[in-house]
Amino acid sequence: MADTSAPRPRINKLVVAYLVVVHALAASAFFLPVPPYALPIALCVYVSIGLGTTVGLHRRICHHAFDCPRWVEYALVTVAMLTGQGSPLLWAATHRIHHAHSDAPGDIHSPQRGFWYAHLGWILDDDSTGAEDWKTWCRDIVEHRYYHWLLRYRLVPQVVTVVVLGFVLGWEALPACFFLPMVSWMHSTYLVNSASHLPRLGGRPNATRDQSTNVWWVSVLALGEGWHNNHHAYPASARHGWTWWQWDPGWLFIRLLELLGLAWDVRVPTRREGEARGTT
Ligand SMILES: [Zn+2]
Ligand SMILES: [Zn+2]
Repeated sequence: MADTSAPRPRINKLVVAYLVVVHALAASAFFLPVPPYALPIALCVYVSIGLGTTVGLHRRICHHAFDCPRWVEYALVTVAMLTGQGSPLLWAATHRIHHAHSDAPGDIHSPQRGFWYAHLGWILDDDSTGAEDWKTWCRDIVEHRYYHWLLRYRLVPQVVTVVVLGFVLGWEALPACFFLPMVSWMHSTYLVNSASHLPRLGGRPNATRDQSTNVWWVSVLALGEGWHNNHHAYPASARHGWTWWQWDPGWLFIRLLELLGLAWDVRVPTRREGEARGTT
């Protein structure tokens, strides 16, 4: 049930314009000739942005679920930023506030304010976040000059990629090869905030204080992020899918990095912690 006492959102017209443009470009893929190589490239773009987001932004930066060389972290973050969503300073601040106030007053994107507000509305709402929240919530990453640079030039990774792909693949191929997978990923990750906080859509094996839910189809789309009740029960775990059948490509990618010597101190729930939560 949506909270009708919540204040009216203060819509940011620049953000609306950006989202209208990228959605229109994505939709144009269905009206333009699609080159034969579009599908593998689109899949590659989708998975790359997805892993950059779930592994780099979420599990590494927000939760310190593993450690890695700085260049690996920067590479993951740069690919995640192809959606034009800004700096990890903004992303981590928003996400840490969400964990601190999940589905309670103060949560930035809870379905308590309605599904669509949790999915997309909060991004359009200037009052949902503070431009300087990162000063309070991101002291551990505040020394990274690259993240401050991204704060000022948030669209640079996206614009550079679009120009390079345009010259290499042809401008007509951009909607199918870049904008459609990019916008699709954006909605997959938005579903973690909306669908994965609706108990009627999945299971809640862990008795967390919020409404977080394990939704298998969100995990398929969002590369493992849909095991969101597991994540709220143990936010520092690099592994969100805790059993063999819980599809979690983000975890598989971290294991691959570990095998290559590019990730260490990988954190997972201990058996005792699992037993304490009744999950093992
Ligand atoms: Zn959540
Ligand atoms: Zn989290």
